[in-house]
Amino acid sequence: MKEQQSTPLVIIGAGAAGLMAASHAGERGVPALLLERKHRAGSKLLMCGNGRCNLTSTLTADQMLSDFAPTLDAFLRPAITAFSPSQLQNWFERNGLPLMQTRDGKVFPKSERAPDVVRCFTDVLRRYEAPICYNAPVEKIAEQPNGFAIQTRAFRIHADRVLIATGGVSYPKTGSVGDGQKMARELGHKLQPYRPGLVGIEWADPWMKTHMGQEFKGARVRVFDDKRCIGETSGLLECERWGLGGGAISNATRLLSRLNARKPSAEITYAHREPALSISPLKMRPLKEAMVTVGGVDLQDINPDTMGSKRTRNLYFAGEVMDVDGPTGGYNLTAAFATARLAIDAIAAEGSFKPPQSRARPQGKRAARPDRRRKPTRHTNRRRR
Ligand SMILES: Cc1cc2nc3c(=O)[nH]c(=O)nc-3n(C[C@H](O)[C@H](O)[C@H](O)COP(=O)(O)OP(=O)(O)OC[C@H]3O[C@@H](n4cnc5c(N)ncnc54)[C@H](O)[C@@H]3O)c2cc1C
Repeated sequence: MKEQQSTPLVIIGAGAAGLMAASHAGERGVPALLLERKHRAGSKLLMCGNGRCNLTSTLTADQMLSDFAPTLDAFLRPAITAFSPSQLQNWFERNGLPLMQTRDGKVFPKSERAPDVVRCFTDVLRRYEAPICYNAPVEKIAEQPNGFAIQTRAFRIHADRVLIATGGVSYPKTGSVGDGQKMARELGHKLQPYRPGLVGIEWADPWMKTHMGQEFKGARVRVFDDKRCIGETSGLLECERWGLGGGAISNATRLLSRLNARKPSAEITYAHREPALSISPLKMRPLKEAMVTVGGVDLQDINPDTMGSKRTRNLYFAGEVMDVDGPTGGYNLTAAFATARLAIDAIAAEGSFKPPQSRARPQGKRAARPDRRRKPTRHTNRRRR
């Protein structure tokens, strides 16, 4: 296999973080090649919010950050304050994706169609003539004196800088299988163990038989580690065939994983009924079904101001490949988009790249599209008459 060309930046993974990174690289004039394992971009994005894609929240950056967890608040603060939920919304609207806000503060595309989000990104990438290579799983990143050799199954390319945006390890069919974490470990980074976040609870109590298929709004879940209460969530409770789901449960399992509960249990109150349902011991559904992976590249190894590695020069991370996870409600996509932007801003600040002003879409306006409709020929006109 011959060593091929060299590029200033390779972005690995065309999911939420990688697509935003490549789009912003276009905006900042950083030449970048986006390499994607699957045959298409944004496979997990397409599943988000049951296919509606909850992009972010109407909360302020501060409000969102305080919901993550203290360590994550500190780590994500530079990224999410630099690209706040309202700036995120402006970015999508400016790039041709009208949005809508729900009463409970969630933000979706107005069409309520996740494919429109992916299309918005691919439109931006086309505008900047940013190359994407599909079916190109990266297998190895080898450090070289002046950058990296990126090895895919089909070719090798040299990059001055690399941004790893390969996602977590849940829903592996979407392409996120832990490659980025493996490559980061090979480059000397520490990994935090994987745990399921935002997942259901298996429960076969007789109560389930009489409530299966029902859902309750405003349920409250208190979570315990060895009988010590370590947190509380509230929201929807759904009774499934295999156990309990819904926002209140998803957020509760994320809390238990993030706080490393050794002997997890929970108490659930719903519809003001007492006594509370008690689930002990508590068993979560498997990681492959989780909406988010808790664990990944250790945040101690990443500079929160640049998303640059503290161990490997010119290596960056964005999104769920890092030990970053949030509650339901647009937090995880917000984190993926904001960390991707911050990484690109840091990369752009280091090099002498020129933003291609002329290609940016004017604020608040849809770009004028050339009229590609075929003009009728004289022949067809004559026939119609
Ligand atoms: C069912 C479901 C619903 C969800 N709904 C929401 C929601 O509504 N709102 C929200 O905020 N969050 C939601 N999430 C979470 C959100 O989807 C993720 O947090 C987010 O997609 C993470 O973005 P990412 O770019 O880090 O990873 P991903 O989106 O997983 O993208 C990683 C990309 O990297 C590619 N890749 C992996 N390895 C390689 C390799 N070796 N070489 C090249 N490419 C590679 C993958 O194929 C993939 O395309 C949901 C998750 C699930 C599973």
